[in-house]
Amino acid sequence: MDNTDMKQIQWFPGHMAKTRRLIASNLSLVDAVVEIVDARSPLSSRNPEMDHLTKNKPRLVILNKSDLADDKTTQRWINYFRSEGSEAIAVDCKSGKGLKSILPVIKKSVLKELMDKRARNGMTGAAVRLMIVGIPNVGKSSIINKLAGSKRAKVEDRPGVTRTKQWVKLDDNTELLDMPGVLWPKFEDQDVAIRLAFTGAISDDILDIETLAMKLLSYLAENYPESIIERYNIDISDNETGLDLLENVGKKRGMVISGGEINTERAAITVIDEFRGGKLGRISLENPPEKEL
Ligand code: GDP
Repeated sequence: MDNTDMKQIQWFPGHMAKTRRLIASNLSLVDAVVEIVDARSPLSSRNPEMDHLTKNKPRLVILNKSDLADDKTTQRWINYFRSEGSEAIAVDCKSGKGLKSILPVIKKSVLKELMDKRARNGMTGAAVRLMIVGIPNVGKSSIINKLAGSKRAKVEDRPGVTRTKQWVKLDDNTELLDMPGVLWPKFEDQDVAIRLAFTGAISDDILDIETLAMKLLSYLAENYPESIIERYNIDISDNETGLDLLENVGKKRGMVISGGEINTERAAITVIDEFRGGKLGRISLENPPEKEL
């Protein structure tokens, strides 16, 4: 992508440093880290520092919003994370799919070693403590609320834990550290920034909405042509530009300004909203990196 397209990206090193410290200083309090990512863009929606920050802790990667992503691609991502040494599962807070398997997977797989050791020592009732991390908008609050339900209440203050953090009880012996820190995505890479803008994880101000919609339409025309052919009833020829596609959508939807000109801004807002709302179907925005053989 051309650099001139992009308005200046806000990057918050101060906040990042604060969250980094918060995670590092609380890591010793937990047995495992639960990292939430967006199933549509699992790498772009994670902070690459996470691997380094939490490297000594068992980890579960949760691909949330799997209702919006392409199932086949999500399965490939699960295989990818497993090949990288992290357990991974897909969930969807909208229908609740997969949520019930989170705690069993943590206890039976992610923390198998710890649980076996506790069983040997007759300590099976000891609490399992988890930390949840993820960039804004991936669904952390939704998952915590679904897991904790009516039990979402303060467990107790622990020494060394300030008032801004809370332990949330998930079941009889599982507690989750609910931290206020904001883990910003790292979007210096422009393709990453665009995927985050498509899903609404970062502000729409990064690119103007028409440029964003043109890029999305070009991606869809190449990777999921049926999604826009069916939704907007448009033809797609080989060499259509993003602008052609956007104008076609506007034309089909009757978005015309006086004088016959197409209102591409309205068309762009429609495309972006409908994509985010899942109305264009289940779409993944990135594929797992190819492994070298
Ligand atoms: P947080 O910033 O990581 O805590 O994310 P939130 O829990 O606030 O969720 C961000 C947005 O995504 C909200 O509008 C949620 O309703 C929506 N959301 C969360 N999980 C899912 C999901 O699995 N599927 C869909 N379609 N939307 C979801």
